[in-house]
Amino acid sequence: MTDTDGILSRRVRAELRKLPAVDKLLQEPEIQALVQESGHEVVVESARAVLDELRGRIRGGDPAPAREALIVAVRERLLAVTSPTLRTVINATGVIIHTNLGRAPLSAATLAAMREAGGAYNNLEYNLAVGERGSRYEHAETLLCRLTGAEAALLVNNNAGAVLLMLMALAQGREVIISRGQLVEIGGGFRVPDVMAQSGARLVEVGTTNRTYLRDYEQAIGGETVLLLRVHSSNFRLIGFTHEVSLGELVALGRERGLMVVDDLGSGSLVDTAQFGLAHEPMVQESVAAGADLVSFSGDKLLGGPQAGIIVGRADLVARLKRHPLARALRVDKTTIAGVQANLLHYVRGEATREIPIWRMIAMSQREIESRASAWAAQLARMGLPAVVSEGRSTVGGGALPGETLPTCVVALAAPSPDALAKRLRQATPPVVARIEGDRLLLDPRTVLPGQDDDLLCRVHEAWQARGEGEDE
Ligand SMILES: *Cc1c(COP(=O)(O)O)cnc(C)c1O
Repeated sequence: MTDTDGILSRRVRAELRKLPAVDKLLQEPEIQALVQESGHEVVVESARAVLDELRGRIRGGDPAPAREALIVAVRERLLAVTSPTLRTVINATGVIIHTNLGRAPLSAATLAAMREAGGAYNNLEYNLAVGERGSRYEHAETLLCRLTGAEAALLVNNNAGAVLLMLMALAQGREVIISRGQLVEIGGGFRVPDVMAQSGARLVEVGTTNRTYLRDYEQAIGGETVLLLRVHSSNFRLIGFTHEVSLGELVALGRERGLMVVDDLGSGSLVDTAQFGLAHEPMVQESVAAGADLVSFSGDKLLGGPQAGIIVGRADLVARLKRHPLARALRVDKTTIAGVQANLLHYVRGEATREIPIWRMIAMSQREIESRASAWAAQLARMGLPAVVSEGRSTVGGGALPGETLPTCVVALAAPSPDALAKRLRQATPPVVARIEGDRLLLDPRTVLPGQDDDLLCRVHEAWQARGEGEDE
């Protein structure tokens, strides 16, 4: 044993000596080029890390790498350190508002507005007419009022924040009545009862999971009650023997008993989804017209804009919200304000379904999708892949219209291990996220952005070629 150990360690020592010192490695022209690009510090750090790792491997019996392999390893290490973790992904799932994939891709005009706001000074909180301090809250307010018919509006970081702010500012230490059928969990940790508890408002549940009547609310109103809350059930649907009180009825009850009525619409749409063969998603204008005191909704669900929480409603209540310290903690930045405004302008101009990507996807004609799917299948077939066009269903997502789907055409690839294929696609550059149904991998053209087609097909081809490796994992 000692003999072999002696021979091994002599061999190991010889291999270790083949590794250059860090200073020596840094003098290589390829490494010098990396220093020019990324700076001395990160390159030295990467070189050290690579050399350390190699020393460990050599002690474990590996030979020292060739010079070229060493340089490639440093370059890859550097790239891992200096590349952003948030990357562009091709969404071939057919889920239009995919929260895990960043919800709504933005329109060209929205992006341009955000870029401009981010790259220069602006009148974010400066009143140009009088040369004094102004308010950042004023910017999107006029547009929101015009589009929804509300008296006033407020933009915050997201809709979860909007709900928290409304409850905290208007109902802290008091009672809020909500139907048991609306105590929902939206995903990403937003549970209505938990948000309520955080706000300091006391939750009074009425009715049953499936049926709640106006008399349930009436009987629960007491001296501490200040607010009736309605929450859109968003990502789930009650079917069968069900009853919920309409917003109009709640508003009438609220007026009679002097209580505020707040409507958390979740997605909230400014466009009627029924025109696309979908169920009717509650519209913001309808809630305002029905007399809700405040209505809240997301900026990046069916509105199709940047992440934001939007509150519209009574001017005196919005003023109270603006004064609350939490509003400061939830405030939006200049790029968000610019993006929300640009996105809202698409609705003002009546061009939302043409210009806003999520609406373009929802409105996409069956013929357009089919011709794209056929072109993909033909190209993949030329590359030797058994791709076929098949009927499928796309979904809206974003907690809007649960159970509702849009007919689509998908490209289907029967694979021995569709999971392994999907995994290789996720690891491609750019990553492709697809859907699996049975033993087939499905690619839905509806959510693949214009201009991503070639990239998608090349990645699919490569992933298909690489099959066999790790197929059974
Ligand atoms: C999505 C949703 C929220 C949370 O909105 P974010 O903008 O994601 O913070 C709150 N309430 C309802 C009903 C929702 O559907």
